[in-house]
Amino acid sequence: MSRNASAFNSVLGWARKFSLFHYPFVTACCGMEYMSAACAHFDLDRFGAGWTRFSPRQADLLIVVGTVTEKLTPVLQTVYRQMVDPKWVIAFGACAVSGGIYDNYAVLQGIDTVIPVDVYIPGGPPRPETVLDGLIKLQEKIQKQDQDWRWRKRRS
Ligand code: SF4
Repeated sequence: MSRNASAFNSVLGWARKFSLFHYPFVTACCGMEYMSAACAHFDLDRFGAGWTRFSPRQADLLIVVGTVTEKLTPVLQTVYRQMVDPKWVIAFGACAVSGGIYDNYAVLQGIDTVIPVDVYIPGGPPRPETVLDGLIKLQEKIQKQDQDWRWRKRRS
């Protein structure tokens, strides 16, 4: 990668990590902690991720919060497919990460079995500080990524 391309890659990463539009896929009790992290006291907006979108077509960050059942899995996959590229996923809480305490046939044993996950936030439910830590880790990951620079790929 040339020096200019590398600098542009870095600027694009910086812009993307501080302009996340998230779609909250909230299904269960972890939702309370999501609300707490998103509201004024902890405030996701301080980290450039305060824009909640309730249409996946306007979102580039999917936050899956709570228990996902097998029956709900096709809905989750459809939401993921409808999101804009490049997109990222956070698994929020033990249930989204691994099925949590629900070790049974009705509950998905981790959303990474059906969609790719970038950051796992442990806890049942996680504290808002843990959520912010997960968000910062995602931002570090976005900054380091080779940015999806579509118009350059089309030209070459
Ligand atoms: S991890 Fe705990 S708080 Fe979160 S959705 Fe599962 S059971 Fe509820």
